[in-house]
Amino acid sequence: MLEAPRTCLPHAGTAPGASLYEELLPRGEGKLTSIYHDLIILGGGPAGLTAGLYTARSRLDVVLLESKACGGQLTTYESVENYPGFPEGIEASELVQRMVDQATKFGLNIMKETALHVEIHSQKPEKTVVLKDKAIRCNSIIVATGAHARKISVEGEERLTGKGVSYCATCDGAFFEDCIISVVGGGDQAVEEAIYLTKFGRQVNIIHRRNELRATKVIQERAFNNPKIKFIWDTVVTSIHGDELVESVTLKNVKTGDSSEMATDSVFIFVGTLPSSEFLNNALSLDKDGFVIVNKEMETNVPGIYAAGDVISKRLRQISSSVGEGATAAFNAEKYLESL
Ligand code: NAP
Repeated sequence: MLEAPRTCLPHAGTAPGASLYEELLPRGEGKLTSIYHDLIILGGGPAGLTAGLYTARSRLDVVLLESKACGGQLTTYESVENYPGFPEGIEASELVQRMVDQATKFGLNIMKETALHVEIHSQKPEKTVVLKDKAIRCNSIIVATGAHARKISVEGEERLTGKGVSYCATCDGAFFEDCIISVVGGGDQAVEEAIYLTKFGRQVNIIHRRNELRATKVIQERAFNNPKIKFIWDTVVTSIHGDELVESVTLKNVKTGDSSEMATDSVFIFVGTLPSSEFLNNALSLDKDGFVIVNKEMETNVPGIYAAGDVISKRLRQISSSVGEGATAAFNAEKYLESL
């Protein structure tokens, strides 16, 4: 049977920041009633939810603050196939929902709040987390605020975000049915998301600044074997064009210096992550890129403050490692509170 020809109609129904995960918004029961909690967990990704599960199960007086939807960067993934216990893989949204359900089952209170900054008092163990309209005092904090997408900072990127420029394939991929999709980056995320985007696009270009990928070998092999994926090596995007929607990009070959224009309906940018640590305002020791420095017990330089997950300075950034770090931070926060 002949298939009806499909037409690229980018952005039918798209809205900047559209999310499939609204149902995973924190389920707090109204506003915070207390101005003191023993422990405050900042961030509801895998690290924060694990810390919340452990500490709520230990009956600590704990509250988890999450400013957006629980799940952190997991909300931008389609599925997960290397998290232990799920041999067939698991939908990312389902994994997040299971983590939320498990933690709240043990009584974790998850509130939709944004921490604006953290105050440390040199003479006493008490700390203060400042929110928009109140401050919460506590004796211990677990910072699990994760990381967010790095931008390529080229002309057109900001203006066309939500209009063809995206940092989330799960959120926006379906808007590019039968379109030409371009992906920038050569790491695990770029290559995995490019493979996912072949479900929608008629062609997916991976634009990478070197001539070899950083992504894990098994992911590379899948991409090399996918007939819809075309690699554009040794190349960077120098500008993104379009009036209302993305229409083309200017490419520069970093070896020859040659520039060219290429038609594309979308540009998905996956060039690594930046820590969500600005709100700490240097209250904690950070590395040169702004990631929180911790020891193997997830202790920061401030007694009683721990950090876990993608906000910390480390090499391995996986759900499984974040979960382990969340558990370690929870264990040590509990011991710290007992010692006071
Ligand atoms: P990443 O591994 O740091 O890769 C970033 C990619 O973007 C690299 O290929 C890099 O090029 C490129 N890049 C960086 N800045 C650029 C710029 N300004 N212009 C053009 N290209 C640029 O980041 P990621 O892929 O987001 O992964 C982050 C972490 O999460 C990694 O540890 C990764 O292993 C993990 N992760 C794991 C999985 C999984 O296991 N299933 C999935 C997703 C992410 P160079 O290679 O030349 O540096």
